Amino acid sequence: MTGPVILLVEDDEAIAAPLGRALTSHGYLVRTARTAALALDLSVELPAPDLVLLDLGLPDLDGVQVARHLRERLPLAVIVMLTARAAEVDVVVGLDAGADDYVTKPFRLGELLARIRAHLRRGVVDDRAAPLSVGDVVVDLAARRCSAGGVEVALRPREFDLLAELLRRAGEAVSRDKLMTDVWDAHWYGSTKTLDMHVSALRRKLGAAGVDPAVITTLRGFGYRYETSQPASGGSAVDPAPTSAPPSLSRRRTSATTATTATTATTATTATTATTAVNGTVATAGTGGTAAAADAGL
Ligand code: CA
Repeated sequence: MTGPVILLVEDDEAIAAPLGRALTSHGYLVRTARTAALALDLSVELPAPDLVLLDLGLPDLDGVQVARHLRERLPLAVIVMLTARAAEVDVVVGLDAGADDYVTKPFRLGELLARIRAHLRRGVVDDRAAPLSVGDVVVDLAARRCSAGGVEVALRPREFDLLAELLRRAGEAVSRDKLMTDVWDAHWYGSTKTLDMHVSALRRKLGAAGVDPAVITTLRGFGYRYETSQPASGGSAVDPAPTSAPPSLSRRRTSATTATTATTATTATTATTATTAVNGTVATAGTGGTAAAADAGL
């Protein structure tokens, strides 16, 4: 089973290489093209790309024309333009040519990943997927319905998205930062208290439907984990202590610094800054050694 396929069309190696690695580490199957010609060749290879990240400034063909050709070849794919040109006319022409969205360089990796997830969630990929199911709990992404033991559980939109995200990664520790980025948005720098409130609501609603609320384990100082096996009876909803070493607070502090730096970079306009921002964030992820760190800092 492979993740969604992303065709990354970018001639700037300083952006393409770290971005490609980041996407791969997030479970995407990535194909990279440095030229429009190669992009058009790769676009017809199977499995077909679910999403195309398209740099508008390519050496061999204007990006808008590439978007048009890609749209003809890939009627169902999401096309996101990466553009250093903030000029509105480029964006409008690009969207007219068949692109679905655009991201202006310099961009923050976390924001781009969140947009990709949002597009794929809305698009054909996840909605086509079989419902997520762990134990008695079933989440039907296409219908946006949740049931437990066959009984419908009424969830608010964010509760639904949060539960879906936890089920997608059932059995894995998911960091608070990752949940905030995936379920809320990349611009969220406020209190993450809202996350705890939503988890509480999920436990309460699942509990009322007969599911042990301890199925969602709190990992102190890190995040949450949706258990794939039924917790021992009488188990508390709150873990007394995480058994594996969660990322330290110092990493979280590092993340905050990175985020600030990245935000600052976002307001700058030169391509050099873009490269630095992307390299900087990916380097941070590499130091942390986990995909969670990549999200945490972004
Ligand atoms: Ca370029």
